[in-house]
Amino acid sequence: MASTRTHTQDVEIQPYTTFHVEVARTERLSPNFLRVTFTGDALDRFADNGADQRIKLVVPLPGTGLADFPDGPDWYGRWRALPDERRNPLRTYTVRAVRQDLRELDVDFVLHGDGGPASRWANAARPGTPAAVVGPDARHPGPHGGREWTPPPDASRLLLAGDETAVPAICAIAESLSGDVPATILLEVPQAEDILDLRTRPGVEITWLPRDGAAHGDALIPAVREATGAPARTMASNPATNPAVNPAVNPAETGDLNDIDVDRDLLWEVPDPTAAAACDGLYAWLAGEAAMVKTLRRHLVQQVGVDRRAVAFMGYWRLGRAEAN
Ligand SMILES: Cc1cc2nc3c(=O)[nH]c(=O)nc-3n(C[C@H](O)[C@H](O)[C@H](O)COP(=O)(O)OP(=O)(O)OC[C@H]3O[C@@H](n4cnc5c(N)ncnc54)[C@H](O)[C@@H]3O)c2cc1C
Repeated sequence: MASTRTHTQDVEIQPYTTFHVEVARTERLSPNFLRVTFTGDALDRFADNGADQRIKLVVPLPGTGLADFPDGPDWYGRWRALPDERRNPLRTYTVRAVRQDLRELDVDFVLHGDGGPASRWANAARPGTPAAVVGPDARHPGPHGGREWTPPPDASRLLLAGDETAVPAICAIAESLSGDVPATILLEVPQAEDILDLRTRPGVEITWLPRDGAAHGDALIPAVREATGAPARTMASNPATNPAVNPAVNPAETGDLNDIDVDRDLLWEVPDPTAAAACDGLYAWLAGEAAMVKTLRRHLVQQVGVDRRAVAFMGYWRLGRAEAN
């Protein structure tokens, strides 16, 4: 999150602030997606930045609810200092829609059972259920940060691929796509009934990939491979991109992928907004389960030769691991 601060009427407004909200209504979009519409007095100043704007959901604790969640500019440090039993779980979600005039915020939750506090909270959400959301504050003149969709102006082809946790972000991006750059959208979802109604502009090809009980990524990985292909010359055989042959190439910047252990590290690499389009004008945005995203990243960087500095690879969650804050 950006750390710039501004002063409005002597009050220091940070880019992200805490909004106390309650559930206005829920809508079951499909077997695995639940839309939660939040309402709250302050949501008329929740910044509507579109695209993949991320927020933090503050999950109320049994018994104490949100009573111990600290307010104010130094909330994060004070929250971290709380004893475990009084520290509200924080989980990352995407803004699906904001209606400032109605003081409403939509967030689409993937329901994955009662194994995590956020999914458990969503399963039990009813009108009036309280929560808090840490999100972009429109009183801050911006930028707020927390958005990664930054295709370079010279991109001539767009690829968006993700699993169900990335569906809200990809839908929001797809709905706002302008211009006429061809775009390929690949969405892996648990089952065919999770295919949502997604409208976008002409020139955008959308493919929904129901997993139907297969392992995570089994549908998406081959689809990304097919959509991007692999040129005859891979990174290693291309002198322009092989660090062993060309000393001007920094392996850390190009594609030496014996690096991230997704069980230990966060897989999160986002483009330098000033970087040129990645490979033959391709700009790719990939998000979902971390091991799956790592496989996709390896394919794009090593087989296709995409410059990883110009592609967004984001592990949104890790199989078998709770979100770490
Ligand atoms: C930038 C960003 C944006 C995101 N946007 C969204 C969004 O809009 N909607 C959304 O639903 N998620 C979104 N996510 C993913 C969400 O943050 C994680 O799924 C999170 O772990 C859910 O928290 P939890 O408390 O339910 O589970 P945790 O306590 O984090 O995990 C408990 C267990 O559940 C497993 N688990 C977590 N998520 C899933 C899942 N989706 N399917 C199966 N098992 C799972 C974990 O592996 C772990 O074993 C986003 C993540 C990021 C980083």
